[in-house]
Amino acid sequence: MSNRRLLFAVLMAATFFTASGQAQHFDKGGPRQGSVFMPGSPGGGPGSDTEEQEKEQTKEAPGDDSSNVSAENMPSELNDEQKEEVVQFVIGNSTFIMFHEAGHMLISELGLPVLGREEDAVDTLSAILLLEGRDETLDQAITDSADGWFLSGEQMAEDDEYAFWDSHGIDDQRAYQIVCMMVGHDAEGFKEFADSIEYPQDRREECVSEYEQARNSWYTLLKPHLNPEGKKSKIEVVYEKPSTADQKPAADLIKESKLLEHAAEMFGDLYQLKPGIKFVGKSCGEPNAYWYPGERQVTFCYELAQYYIALDTQWHINNPDG
Ligand SMILES: [Zn+2]
Repeated sequence: MSNRRLLFAVLMAATFFTASGQAQHFDKGGPRQGSVFMPGSPGGGPGSDTEEQEKEQTKEAPGDDSSNVSAENMPSELNDEQKEEVVQFVIGNSTFIMFHEAGHMLISELGLPVLGREEDAVDTLSAILLLEGRDETLDQAITDSADGWFLSGEQMAEDDEYAFWDSHGIDDQRAYQIVCMMVGHDAEGFKEFADSIEYPQDRREECVSEYEQARNSWYTLLKPHLNPEGKKSKIEVVYEKPSTADQKPAADLIKESKLLEHAAEMFGDLYQLKPGIKFVGKSCGEPNAYWYPGERQVTFCYELAQYYIALDTQWHINNPDG
């Protein structure tokens, strides 16, 4: 699976979330629109007649500018194939994080009530957005993301470190929660992955209703804030220069992938947001990402992309046949 279509697929996913039926070109196989974020809709799972149509559309769609992402500057101890995989891993994980931060933005900007921990709520939203995109590249992104949390959990345990994400769940817990959403959404499609981590069978069954409940709750919360047809909100995107030369490959990867533009376009197209919100890529001094309510800004730190590059590179070194 190549990374090349990933961010384009995010954009395609965005068209599903509109209430107005703008995504009708996907609708040949039935109630496609309703199958996405509508409570109680039947939904066509993998293998449904809409799936081929969807892949076709994505494959042939013009303007796939994420194909510019170069793997050249990934660590030199990796072969070309591994470099491509690292790029995909970084984009997949970074997409999940951007959606997570954008979730904080929605809660703050739209004044949404949150039951339970906000961190868990926006992790769930991020997972739903990726899963409801129903595209193999997004499926790969969420798989990479669960992998990312498992790997960072392992590394923390080895290094005897505490998670750098204050107030976020322990990495393993986050990973298992994401896996719950994955198997809750599509038990068959993610069976192999769930098996590989020995995800308990009885949990998989519970996850089906947990997923549905989470999706319906988010839908109910967000529906009144969807943009009417033809209207878009503007989110400004800024890439600052990385503050050190060693961050350049990570910064270039994020910029070339248009991670921030795609997220800005997706959330701006979907929701009624007041002008002035910014998505910023920059060096922060730590691997992290933030929503700053006062500045109305999502910050994605280049150090985080750098961290994901190092994490997956180490995995490839430890698992040369993987
Ligand atoms: Zn958070």
